[in-house]
Amino acid sequence: MENLTHFRRILFQPLGPRAIAGRHYWRIFRRVSGWIASVSQSAFVISLDFEQHWGIYDHSSVSAYRKKLDGGRRAIPLILERFAAAGVHASWATVGLLLCEGREDALTLYPDHPAYQDLEIQIRDVIADSGDSESDDPYHYALSLAQRIAAAPGQEIATHTFSHYYCLERGPSIRDFEKDLEAAKSVASRHGIDLSAIVFPRNQYTAAHLAACRRQGFKAFRGNPKAGPYLPRKTGDMTAMTRVTRLLDAYAEVVSSERLLSRSRHEEGLVNVPASRFLRPVSRLDRGLSWLRLRRICDEMTRAARVGADYHLWWHPHNFGTYTEENLAFLDAIIVHYAQLRRRYGMVSLTITEAAARA
Ligand SMILES: [Zn+2]
Repeated sequence: MENLTHFRRILFQPLGPRAIAGRHYWRIFRRVSGWIASVSQSAFVISLDFEQHWGIYDHSSVSAYRKKLDGGRRAIPLILERFAAAGVHASWATVGLLLCEGREDALTLYPDHPAYQDLEIQIRDVIADSGDSESDDPYHYALSLAQRIAAAPGQEIATHTFSHYYCLERGPSIRDFEKDLEAAKSVASRHGIDLSAIVFPRNQYTAAHLAACRRQGFKAFRGNPKAGPYLPRKTGDMTAMTRVTRLLDAYAEVVSSERLLSRSRHEEGLVNVPASRFLRPVSRLDRGLSWLRLRRICDEMTRAARVGADYHLWWHPHNFGTYTEENLAFLDAIIVHYAQLRRRYGMVSLTITEAAARA
């Protein structure tokens, strides 16, 4: 007993009275345990590429995609409701053109359009044919929806570049890319949005494009999984084999799940928050097999939660534009699984910028 008292005296004496010392050690304990949790705590990251027709202008007309684009607009508030109810955070990588008032505004903000050598339809022609306002042309302008997203709890407006810019296509220079980013920042800042994260269209980028993002003040980006079929490539370099591998991998473990877990890392002065998986939409052909896709995603999320890695799921709002009810039910099942992992392993839901801040 005497030894114990002596031990306490030695331990607490330099810090003053025992009560103060107790609080002091409790604070240290909380700080250390918080640090340990942040080092190993798994995160569930969601990003949505919000682009409407700008994401497919080079290979599809509005009329061919109208149903999906209309349905995508209707799905956004329903997705936001679910995120709010479950405390799910997400980054909405929004094409800058969607934030413009209409054609005149878009042309004023972005007079130097990139000219791609291998694309038959150029962005300048699509802008010139677009409508005067969002109500006139909801396929190319969507400021009201972007404002709704920005006002929702835990949601981040990121950029998907101003013009759905293709970094690996032949033609434009790095300076053209920087001008595109300047336009994206400018139109976002009108609405009090400070862009911090970027998602590259078609997931195309190089080290030089990352350096340009850093010069423009961006902090984080969504990279690609470090697995062969998911590495960035030009549209023309996408082989049938790559497409088939990606398709099969959505249902069964063709690519090792371990390689699809997201581990944020510093790259070219930014933080790469790599994607894990594209959330394929429910379709007519997929309906009977969607439970396999769900199982694959949930297994990967569980694996990430167990090892303290992150899991980064992404899709487009227009992917929910058809079979909306089934797609929302699929999302509900993922959110339920996330809630279980949050309770069991302390998994947290983060935007790209929030995930990058922990790297
Ligand atoms: Zn896109």
